[in-house]
Amino acid sequence: MSDLDPAPDTIDVAPVGHPRPQLRIIEAREVPLGGVRAMTVSRTIPERTLPTVGAWCFADEAGPAPHLTRVLPHPHIGLQTVSWLLAGSIRHRDTVGSDVIVRPGQLNLMTSGAGIAHSEFTPGDDPEPVHLLQLWIALPEHARHGAPAFEQHVDLPVAQGAGWTATVLIGSFAGVTSPATAYTPLVGAEIVVGPGEGVSLPLQPGFEHAVLVPRGSATLEGDELASGPLAYLGAGRDRVELVAGDAGATLLLIGGEPLQEELVMWWNFVGRDHDEIVAARDAWEQHSTRFGEVAGHDGARIPAPPLPGVRLAPRRRR
Ligand code: MN
Repeated sequence: MSDLDPAPDTIDVAPVGHPRPQLRIIEAREVPLGGVRAMTVSRTIPERTLPTVGAWCFADEAGPAPHLTRVLPHPHIGLQTVSWLLAGSIRHRDTVGSDVIVRPGQLNLMTSGAGIAHSEFTPGDDPEPVHLLQLWIALPEHARHGAPAFEQHVDLPVAQGAGWTATVLIGSFAGVTSPATAYTPLVGAEIVVGPGEGVSLPLQPGFEHAVLVPRGSATLEGDELASGPLAYLGAGRDRVELVAGDAGATLLLIGGEPLQEELVMWWNFVGRDHDEIVAARDAWEQHSTRFGEVAGHDGARIPAPPLPGVRLAPRRRR
């Protein structure tokens, strides 16, 4: 998914001080995606008080709704995109030659390194019900200038406990590690909890964590969560307890070691300063080999929006 907002917010991320256990509900903003096939997505991070959770720096939820996805080629730098479907299918094509369809239970993980471009389409010509979580992971300094890559994982490892089953997308959860390539200590896991079940999920105290509930509902320390908001748990917890609603709950748990690098995010780019963002934007607009071309689109692509009239400057986590 591309950030199609014609005037995207400038989000600057400063290192976190000393995160601690807490519970903070980050309400989702409805972000309209442009074009004739308009739909909205629910975005939780980055948020002005919570730019990142570990290295996770962006979380969108689209659907569930019938939709004909036609996201033309667009660029990324400095990040990995994690695409995880609860319903529907998406055809992914990119500038490293990938052309794959992703379905529920499968992970698409795209690593931009210094630059990649990709498109995302509904495989057929008609709308189909789709429910997509798309998240970005910021690459650390040692990995963000590297070569682009794409991997799809169709057989992810599973962890189980009393009342819950977890599919480990990336990183480690409950002693189970995903084969997906990660560059910082983190976790991304889909956790299914049965109807009415009360569960205690193991966490890593050195990580900060957050939970989305894309399907069903769950009560967590008095807050009822369903599709939309993100529950930020802070760091320093070794467990989190929650109770699924009558229809059960499907959670997405994300977390990681608090990021110690300053990020500047604008449009589809994660960099470290204003000039890097400008250089990436120019490279895309000039059809530079930094990004290349996605085959199959006859050169059609999403143009970069105009830069804001001010230099992209740091904004601290509050
Ligand atoms: Mn994208």
